[in-house]
Amino acid sequence: MDVLVIGGGPAGTTAAALLAQEGWQVMLLEKDSHPRFHIGESLLPGNVAILKQLGVLEQVRDIAVHKPGADFTGPDGITHNFPFATALGTTPDYAFQVLRSQFDELLFANCVAKGVDARQQHQVISVAARNDGAHLVVYTDTRDIKHAVVARLVIDASGRDALMAKQQGWHQPSRRHASAAVFGHFRLAQPRQGNLEGNISVYWFEGGWIWMIPLPDGVMSIGAVCCPSLLKQRHTNLETFLRHILAGVPDTATRTADMVALGPVHATGNYSYQSRYSHAAGVLLVGDAYAFIDPVFSSGVYLAMNSAVACLAPARAWLRGDRRQYRRATRRFTTRVDRKMGAFAWFILRFTTPAMREMFRNPRNDWRVRQAVVSMLAGDGDGSADIRTRLRLFRILYMGYRLRRGLSSWRAWLLRRKNRQVVFQDETILH
Ligand SMILES: Cc1cc2nc3c(=O)[nH]c(=O)nc-3n(C[C@H](O)[C@H](O)[C@H](O)COP(=O)(O)OP(=O)(O)OC[C@H]3O[C@@H](n4cnc5c(N)ncnc54)[C@H](O)[C@@H]3O)c2cc1C
Repeated sequence: MDVLVIGGGPAGTTAAALLAQEGWQVMLLEKDSHPRFHIGESLLPGNVAILKQLGVLEQVRDIAVHKPGADFTGPDGITHNFPFATALGTTPDYAFQVLRSQFDELLFANCVAKGVDARQQHQVISVAARNDGAHLVVYTDTRDIKHAVVARLVIDASGRDALMAKQQGWHQPSRRHASAAVFGHFRLAQPRQGNLEGNISVYWFEGGWIWMIPLPDGVMSIGAVCCPSLLKQRHTNLETFLRHILAGVPDTATRTADMVALGPVHATGNYSYQSRYSHAAGVLLVGDAYAFIDPVFSSGVYLAMNSAVACLAPARAWLRGDRRQYRRATRRFTTRVDRKMGAFAWFILRFTTPAMREMFRNPRNDWRVRQAVVSMLAGDGDGSADIRTRLRLFRILYMGYRLRRGLSSWRAWLLRRKNRQVVFQDETILH
């Protein structure tokens, strides 16, 4: 077999479908079975082109809520809207909010339609390199029976399980961003009104930030990302804890007053990390299997699908047996993936600082920096030279705000430093 893909999420299904479309023989193994719950429902305008390339754009439109932009509300209660229509560059003026159970099932079905040997409830256990450059992949099937298969190329898209990175000792948790998220699906939470109905809403609160994502059929995905010290103080169950956070912010308190949980409230912690390497001989890491950054700008699915598209060039080179081209292509692949992620990471790391809050609260558009920020939010932060220059300008302005807010910036820095030292060895705080 040419390619074995581990994981049937957005990254794995994108890589598998596009390679099968080119005529390679592809097998995809997914340990779960679709439809299954998954967090990560708010897509970016950057996703639209990839969905088109996969041939599923209209199908996704049919199951999605139209997302015209994002709004951010500070502790002063003032909301600022960032419509994608104001972005610089050429990204579409909309994105989608999707139920991941439906979205991932659709992408998986697309793989099957493209000729991928895609199997569910098949879990990869180990991957071992052979002398001839191929890999021996061991997996279990639906009845837990072990099998082995030889693949010329392995694409690891196992998400936050990060199978290869953990197996190889490449997995590096981010010390700079220790947070945890508490989230669930709810009914009877109020969306925004009028043409902002499909917006994602983001709220700052003292211990982190809150998201509200409107999904089809009146469902709302609601969650809070908070610092570990806040989660450690929790004495109630997760749903009560989340409700308590929502009640502390006037606007979310109003919007969620009547909400009813549709299922259990989940928690996940310690979640930012990056693998030391994005590839090895005959192995490519894509999506969360390579790296994961805080989801405040809804970047995860876009970064995952973008890295799957970016891995096509090295994949082709390896399959053609052109080792020199493979080395070149993997370098370009890593640069492209890291640059995309870096365009979000700078903002994410500073998102909860007083200076950044103030800048989002007073979003001036001098030199069109606000529009450049919208481009970043659309997934185009590494786009044209014009956008990159304006984002650099934003960073300079940020430094100015930081200096002006010296004392509060310093206090926030101390808090972040303290949080970095909290390690989630006690997993019970997440249950
Ligand atoms: C709290 C939170 C909120 C988020 N919000 C957003 C958001 O609003 N927007 C956004 O774009 N992103 C968001 N994300 C990020 C998003 O969920 C991920 O970035 C995205 O799902 C990555 O896609 P992927 O294909 O790499 O991994 P996944 O979607 O996780 O898919 C990996 C697949 O691999 C399978 N798998 C794992 N191990 C094995 C194995 N050994 N064998 C076979 N199969 C295996 C898994 O079952 C899974 O189906 C959020 C994440 C978190 C934690």
